[in-house]
Amino acid sequence: MTETRAAGATWSGNHHYRAAEVLLPADAGELAEVVASRPALRVQATRHTFNDIADADGALVSLERMPTRVDVTDDRVRVEGLVTFAQLAPMLEAEGRALHNLGSLPHISVAGAAATGTHGSGMGNGNLSSAVTALEIMDADGRTHHIDRGHPWFGAAALGLGAFGVVTAVELRTVPSYTVVQQAFTGAAWDDLVSDPATVFGGSRSVSVFTTWGDPADDLVWAKSDTGAPTWVEELGGRAVGDDLHLGRIRTLDNTTERGTPGPWHTRLPHFRADALPSDGDEIQSEYFVPITAAAEALAAVRAIAPSFDAHLLVTELRTVAADGLWLSPAFERDVLAIHFTWRNDTDGVLGVLPHIERALAPFDVRPHWGKAFTMPGEAVRATLPRTEDFLAAAREADPRGVFRNAYLERTLGL
Ligand SMILES: Cc1cc2nc3c(=O)[nH]c(=O)nc-3n(C[C@H](O)[C@H](O)[C@H](O)COP(=O)(O)OP(=O)(O)OC[C@H]3O[C@@H](n4cnc5c(N)ncnc54)[C@H](O)[C@@H]3O)c2cc1C
Repeated sequence: MTETRAAGATWSGNHHYRAAEVLLPADAGELAEVVASRPALRVQATRHTFNDIADADGALVSLERMPTRVDVTDDRVRVEGLVTFAQLAPMLEAEGRALHNLGSLPHISVAGAAATGTHGSGMGNGNLSSAVTALEIMDADGRTHHIDRGHPWFGAAALGLGAFGVVTAVELRTVPSYTVVQQAFTGAAWDDLVSDPATVFGGSRSVSVFTTWGDPADDLVWAKSDTGAPTWVEELGGRAVGDDLHLGRIRTLDNTTERGTPGPWHTRLPHFRADALPSDGDEIQSEYFVPITAAAEALAAVRAIAPSFDAHLLVTELRTVAADGLWLSPAFERDVLAIHFTWRNDTDGVLGVLPHIERALAPFDVRPHWGKAFTMPGEAVRATLPRTEDFLAAAREADPRGVFRNAYLERTLGL
């Protein structure tokens, strides 16, 4: 008999799952029985999304009781079951290997991050889905499919929004381990920061700019470099920040990764430490992607309407993501600037201001982050992604009965 628990809410509590329960199979046999017996099912992983992407009208299934396994071979790592980056990264480092990038926190699951195009920053760094080399996916009949880069569904399934079935294992490309040193700066002039994105975001391995769109004292450049001090920030007027680090209106309290000293990639690339609460906690997040070539104009458009959303904003973070070939990737075939908003945890207020931002960004062919709050109608989302029809065809072939579809996929993609 498969154990169950209550579905609960997303990590920040902004979405309470409608699903009646979460099924907790203990092994692959129980998982196959669960998927074959349910008319509607979605996977719940570490719950760090901010919308109903992981919800279902039926039940949810979690792999949290199933065995996990990590195999590092040559330039690949195969991760089986519910494994977080906090668990995976030290195992890779012990073998002298690394991932090319990480998101702002290591608390999230590898499969969940890949499913939504989770990203860090860096002009040369694709999102985490772009590191996927193969997946094992259990379909609604309990059969497992191996989907590698030669498979016709790969371009869809590697950033698959959970629409292809239960991902039981993910294989990722690895790189040789590397060292990173990070520093934070205030005082760099906004006009310099936004007028030449290639210099700013290409200045170090990974660069984030934090702003509240008003008081320059709130602006912060957080640079993660391979070696030494990022002199390019100082040339733009930046002064190194001491221990008291503010991310806009979020005052960090002993939860950020170490600055000022070199350390292994996984201890410096995330902003937040694995042993601490990341970000603010009481929040909602949204994020929009525009072509890097439109960065200055898009930022000016958002800045012009900033007073309309200021009361809801904790902080904006600007990052870059390199182009990839995944069909629903926000970086599909274009390098993008990611314009992120951490909001106060007021759903009605946030849903009230998002349409203004989306209208301001519409001329720039904007794409939303799949795992964060957005109100763009499905037609607008689909219009920016030229391979949507191919994605839908692959998802329908993989899941003909629509067991892994939900209201979110219907609303945003027409699936
Ligand atoms: C504090 C904080 C900081 C964040 N920072 C970043 C950041 O830096 N960059 C960024 O891009 N995003 C960031 N995010 C967003 C978030 O990390 C991603 O959207 C990610 O998808 C969360 O994964 P999860 O497993 O926790 O989510 P879940 O909601 O549990 O799952 C996400 C999706 O993946 C599907 N899924 C998960 N596991 C499987 C599986 N095994 N098989 C099939 N489908 C599966 C789920 O059904 C769901 O649709 C942040 C979120 C928080 C809360």
